[in-house]
Amino acid sequence: MAGVCNKSAKKCSRKQKRAEHRLIRDMNIESSEEPTQNLAICNVGLVTGVQREILEQFIESTESNFQLTMPPGRSYCFVSFSTIESASSFYNKVHGQIKVPGQNTVFYLLYIKAIPCIKESLGALLPSGLRILTEFVSPKQEATLLNSIDWEEEEENMESELKHRRVKHFGYKFRYEDNLVDIDNPITPIPEDYNFLQDLFQKHDCGYFQYDQLTINRYLPGQGIPPHIDTHSIFKDPILSLSLGSACIMDFKRGKEKVSIDLPARSLLVMSGESRYAWSHGICPRHNDNVETDNGFSTRPRGTRVSFTFRKTRTGDCNCQYSEYCNTKKQNSILKEIKIDDGAALEIENSYVHDVYEEISNHFSETRHKQWPNVTKFIESLELGSLLLDVGCGNGKYLCGQSSIFKMGCDRSTGLAEICRTKGFQIALANCLQLPFKTDSLDAVLCIAVIHHLSTHERRKQAVSEIMRVLRPARGKALIYVWAKEQNKDSVKSTYLKSNTSKNSEDARQREMQFKTLENNVTLPVHENRTEFIHSDMLVPWKRKGGGDFLRYYHVFENGELESLCSDVPAANIKKSYYDQGNWCVVLEKMCQLN
Ligand code: MN
Ligand code: ZN
Repeated sequence: MAGVCNKSAKKCSRKQKRAEHRLIRDMNIESSEEPTQNLAICNVGLVTGVQREILEQFIESTESNFQLTMPPGRSYCFVSFSTIESASSFYNKVHGQIKVPGQNTVFYLLYIKAIPCIKESLGALLPSGLRILTEFVSPKQEATLLNSIDWEEEEENMESELKHRRVKHFGYKFRYEDNLVDIDNPITPIPEDYNFLQDLFQKHDCGYFQYDQLTINRYLPGQGIPPHIDTHSIFKDPILSLSLGSACIMDFKRGKEKVSIDLPARSLLVMSGESRYAWSHGICPRHNDNVETDNGFSTRPRGTRVSFTFRKTRTGDCNCQYSEYCNTKKQNSILKEIKIDDGAALEIENSYVHDVYEEISNHFSETRHKQWPNVTKFIESLELGSLLLDVGCGNGKYLCGQSSIFKMGCDRSTGLAEICRTKGFQIALANCLQLPFKTDSLDAVLCIAVIHHLSTHERRKQAVSEIMRVLRPARGKALIYVWAKEQNKDSVKSTYLKSNTSKNSEDARQREMQFKTLENNVTLPVHENRTEFIHSDMLVPWKRKGGGDFLRYYHVFENGELESLCSDVPAANIKKSYYDQGNWCVVLEKMCQLN
């Protein structure tokens, strides 16, 4: 290795060896035993806090005609000279001998075969949904805003909570212990002096609500904030942050992706969609930032930065699509896992299905007249003289018409059975889990909007098994409809959602979520009618005409769930499955016995 190390030749070569490994590992840069035009400066780079201009001045004082390349995020950099002679002249004068300007260490250099083409660029790709509006406020407004805050006045508990920066809250206090706000205890509202900002937000499409929570942070040089995602369920989308006083680099991360973004003073950062829900943001506690200038990368010292973060509190559930980052989705999946055991299932179905249908049977019957076309088609496809059973026939709307076949119904509700009887239908009072019919005796079975009232998989399976049992083998057919969790399939809104004029347009995520803990200690969410389903098991309100609010238990089926339930029943052969206006549907045929 060429070069002179007067004081500590050993230390020099040790530093060089380490740098050689790092260059190979990081950028596949090979060092050279022989002098070349190119040098790596092993211990000076953008992250070591040396400004590009100062380094350039230093090199210039020794050799002219060179090109400096400073890759971002590295502790080394590269110089390319026009000749090998000037490179080795620089090496011989500087390596291991001259101190790095402003630092207490000498330069360590290494000849390298070539200088890589550095394409990295800060903030080249913004996370989706992120906007930076530069010069959002004028320098005059910036000064006014900065002057409006009295950092000297002591705020209770503040210093103890945040060692690394000063913070003030308006509207609601942000609790750093659990990253929530105390929505029931509002504090001093956002000062009216800041109202002009709210107007500016609206003007620039930054959310069409009045922001009700403001956090003002003061970051001194060297201070930062750890990477985080603002808790989904407490703040709406978007979140705004106004940078004042000094620029800084904010790092956005999602998985392995990392984007560093320069937030100039007076700019507004708008985080919405993916950038609000799925990317973390944080500020590295540094005194300098790496920034891109006209001639490459350089470091920029940080000044005191004050940020105004405006947020709108949310009282309902978050309904984002980024479940892995969503505290609401996590809470819901915990709820989803609540096991309903057989004892609880009986109680739930008695109180929240059977009793309710007894109470609402007259009103329910008034609302159920029209046959669904695809069900009618199924009935009409049956052979002359077929024996059809409608399991859970309700008011018997499928028992009328089609005189060429013989129809019977059964229902668990005496009220509904009575309504059927007065209409002259053949009706049995029976639960779908135990049908009072002979095995292999019927040509066809309908089971429309019934199985979703059963509260365990086993019981739903039992219902399908019973249907298959009473069907005759070979071409005995059943049609089953259950409520679908997906009410917006094929971008056609189901009639269930369509009849809601306001709630969905406003967005499901703004909804308030309610829960009810039942006698058996099972907690179920209470669904808001005419909105999309978030949960699979829930209580759905029924408002009775003439008074009375009731809750019915539902298990809504996810795509594929009905098929998988039926394939658990050995005798069931799925002939067809489809989606029909908010329902999952299957046509089953009873398998012939093989032996
Ligand atoms: Mn934040
Ligand atoms: Zn969310």
